[in-house]
Amino acid sequence: MRVIETLARSLDPLYGLPAATRQEFVRWYRQAKLPQIRSVAFLTTVLYLIYAAIEQNVAQDHHGLRLLVHGVLVPLSLLAVGVMSFREEMHRWMRVLLSVAPISAVVANLAFNFRNPDFAYFVPEIYLNLMWTFTVSGLILRQALLTASVSTAVLLAFTLLDAMQPGAQQLHFIWILAAFSFGVLCAFVMEKAHKTMFLHQDRLALSASLDGLTGLWNRARIDQLFADEITRAQRYGTPFSVILLDIDHFKHVNDDHGHAVGDSVLRQFSALLRDNVRSVDKVGRLGGEEFLVILPEIDAEQAQVAARTLQERIRQFDFDTVLRKTASFGITQFHGDENPQHMLDRADRALYKAKAGGRDRIEVH
Ligand code: GH3
Ligand code: MG
Ligand code: MG
Repeated sequence: MRVIETLARSLDPLYGLPAATRQEFVRWYRQAKLPQIRSVAFLTTVLYLIYAAIEQNVAQDHHGLRLLVHGVLVPLSLLAVGVMSFREEMHRWMRVLLSVAPISAVVANLAFNFRNPDFAYFVPEIYLNLMWTFTVSGLILRQALLTASVSTAVLLAFTLLDAMQPGAQQLHFIWILAAFSFGVLCAFVMEKAHKTMFLHQDRLALSASLDGLTGLWNRARIDQLFADEITRAQRYGTPFSVILLDIDHFKHVNDDHGHAVGDSVLRQFSALLRDNVRSVDKVGRLGGEEFLVILPEIDAEQAQVAARTLQERIRQFDFDTVLRKTASFGITQFHGDENPQHMLDRADRALYKAKAGGRDRIEVH
């Protein structure tokens, strides 16, 4: 079982990760591919225009149709892909066009050239087309695979249904096989490298958001989550509350037992907070022994219930060396049309009141 898992992970660095992470990767990868799609679309447009001009002198027949397809339709489609790449709402259609265009090019090539004696001059466009689809176009692997498979099916159907010289047919097959397998391998390797890069970036972003000592959200990240929650509450008109907590007489822990014990108590306290709130609540360390809990869709009264649960858990917990510790709580609810600082100021006043009132208390402002 472990061998299979190791093998699967070496082929797919995202193996076993949640579906949401995989979807996030596809979004990220598609975004990363945009500059490639754009530049390739413009370059291919130019090359097709040159090709269309040369083709007019070389081809024996279908001059008008060839000009229409290679000098007008294909360049216009590619130009459209390039232009659409600048517009987010057009990206879905851009990818559809990018998937269909190579298949159309294969069909046009076969229709124009397959039975002609000089097919050999024109067939490289098809082999190149398969490589282009996989490695140049900017399509992600599964989309490129679908497009190249349809192109190849059309190609094989033509080749098998019509008589070709046996030797020429075998050469044709080997070129198709080579183009397809090189293409799929390159696209696979590129996508795998990007998956690894994505994971590194994801981990880096996460570690930049976490508090080093406690593993809670750090100040910068909790500020951001706070601002996001305000935006959400304003948009949907839902309530939300915050709890500001401060450990009581924490200085004594350091003074009496040393900084290492202080750190250990901070870590245990943080774990208590994290384990006793809902999964949608966000817990951050503002600094020192001061913490903020953001409670979405909860009013101050319900936040008091949540605070009482935390207060009980803290009271009953045996902390490292010092055993019993308490904390003071300041609660406030979102009033609408205010920024995080307004709310923090109110929560701070409530916390001050809890401290002034003798500590190990919950106050609401
Ligand atoms: P109060 O009940 O009024 O909150 O009193 P207090 O002693 O908890 O508050 P005060 O702000 O006077 O002391 C906080 C202490 O927290 C001071 C500082 O040395 C300690 N501290 C801040 N950050 C850390 C840390 O990362 N590790 C450790 N061990 N101590 C820290
Ligand atoms: Mg304190
Ligand atoms: Mg403090």
